[in-house]
Amino acid sequence: MAVQSKQKQLDQIAADIVKNNVCPDLAQTASRLVMGDGSPDADIVFVGEAPGKKEDETGIPFVGAAGKFLDEMLASIELKREDVYITNIVKYRPPNNRDPEPEEKKAFFPYLTKQLAVIEPKILIPLGRHSMNAFLPDFKISQVHGKAYRRKFPIEGVEKQPVILPLYHPAAALYNGGLRETLMSDFASIPQIIKNIT
Ligand code: URA
Repeated sequence: MAVQSKQKQLDQIAADIVKNNVCPDLAQTASRLVMGDGSPDADIVFVGEAPGKKEDETGIPFVGAAGKFLDEMLASIELKREDVYITNIVKYRPPNNRDPEPEEKKAFFPYLTKQLAVIEPKILIPLGRHSMNAFLPDFKISQVHGKAYRRKFPIEGVEKQPVILPLYHPAAALYNGGLRETLMSDFASIPQIIKNIT
C-alpha cells in the first residue's frame, strides 16, 4: 500500500476525531474543528490551548490577537507560519473561551500525539501551562519557560522524541509588559536551541 502524504494522514486524524465523536458537547457548541495550520514537514510544532472566537470562525488556529503576536514573534526569528506547524491540545472552542477541562484535554491528547507522529518535529513548543502540563506534568511555567527538556515522551512509533521548550502563552503576554519581554526573549533563543539539537 502506498504511503499516504503527511497532509493526507493529518486529514485522516481530523476525520477520526469527528467519526469517534470526541467531546460531543464541545462539538455541538463549536462551529467547527480547528485542527492545525502550517507545514506538515515542520521542524517546529507549537501547541496552544484551545481555539477562541476567531479560530472557531475561520477553522485556523491562532488568528486572533494572540495569533498576530505569535506571527510577529515568528517574523522576529525570520520564520513564517508556513515554516512551522501550529495546533492546540483541544480542537473545538470551549464555550465563552473558558479553560479546557482536564477530561477534554485527555480526550484530545491521543490525536495530538498522532499529529506529532506524522510531523516528527525536532522541537515541540507548548504555549502556556495547559499545553505544557500535558507534556510535562507538575512543571511550573514560571520556573521552566524558555528551557529545553529532553523527555522520553511516548509518541508511538517515533524513535526520536522532540525536545520540549515550554513558553508563556502569547495571550497572557499580550497585555503584560514583563511577560511580553520574557516571551520575546525566550522566542529569540529558538534558532540556537534548534541548532544544538542533534
Ligand atoms: N489561543 C490558543 O491557545 N489557541 C488558539 O488557537 C488561539 C488562541
